Amino acid sequence: MLLGRPWVVDGGLASALQDDGFSVDGHPLWSARILATNPGAVRKVHTTFLEAGADIIITASYQASIPGFQDHLGTTQDEAERIMNTSVSLAKEAIQEYESKFTDKVRKLLVAGSIGPYGACQADGSEYTGAYMCKVTPEYLKEWHRPRMAALVNSGVDLLAVETIPAQAEALAILDLLQEFPDTKAWLSFSCKDSQHTNYGDDFGEAVKKCHERAVDQLIAVGLNCTPPQYVTSLLEKADTSLPSPSILPRVVYPNSGEEWVAGKGWAGRSAHWPFLNEVKKWQVLGASVIGGCCRLRPNDIRDIASVVAPISKRDI
Ligand SMILES: [Zn+2]
Repeated sequence: MLLGRPWVVDGGLASALQDDGFSVDGHPLWSARILATNPGAVRKVHTTFLEAGADIIITASYQASIPGFQDHLGTTQDEAERIMNTSVSLAKEAIQEYESKFTDKVRKLLVAGSIGPYGACQADGSEYTGAYMCKVTPEYLKEWHRPRMAALVNSGVDLLAVETIPAQAEALAILDLLQEFPDTKAWLSFSCKDSQHTNYGDDFGEAVKKCHERAVDQLIAVGLNCTPPQYVTSLLEKADTSLPSPSILPRVVYPNSGEEWVAGKGWAGRSAHWPFLNEVKKWQVLGASVIGGCCRLRPNDIRDIASVVAPISKRDI
């Protein structure tokens, strides 16, 4: 489905919402709260990324969970499920609106339902360390991830973006769960802390290899996101050497801006320009066929990335 040409993933949803004046940090639901309080703002951000050249829009469900909506917004279960469904309908509406404006339809546009890690819903920064992994079992993680995955699949996403996963064991638990939805495709991307390890400290090459061995039919790409861009080339090389050659699965790569996220303070230290565009071609050579940006990468950055990997005029359906 994604083989053949590069696809461009959108950038940081929360960063774009903040640019539009919304307060995101400091609330346990992060940008998922805006789904309930101002859905039009989420749709507008999706539209902005489409206009910048993104082919794949990731839903605002990264930090969303059914219990999270119940606990922090006081919703019923039905209402919580409806908000989850809204994350998909907003992305679809943005695509329909974009396609109605631009009739050339040179691109096929997709909605990827975001499945963030368990830690992303703990609001304690543990998504970036995987510290919770010593307290939870794979079975518990499967149970925890199931309601959101079901809601996103039932809402008609084109695929799932299992993203910012800090630990191999959580990735494998989610891939086991994925097999309960056999018609659904997904990519899986780890968050990494250096040029060799996931944020939890697993060997990245080994983690990618283990994912390749699990749920192969449904997995369309394995890679990394929300990782400092300076580590990406080494990580991709590491994954390459751990796999039989040639690898049948492409890589997915959407790093962050390279700034550090500090618990209680948020992101800090953004430079004026994202200085890694010249690396992007290298990532393609190393197998990346889904490329874009994560936290703190703005529509302008996505426009730059799209211009390098897949200029719109050259992107066919
Ligand atoms: Zn990110």
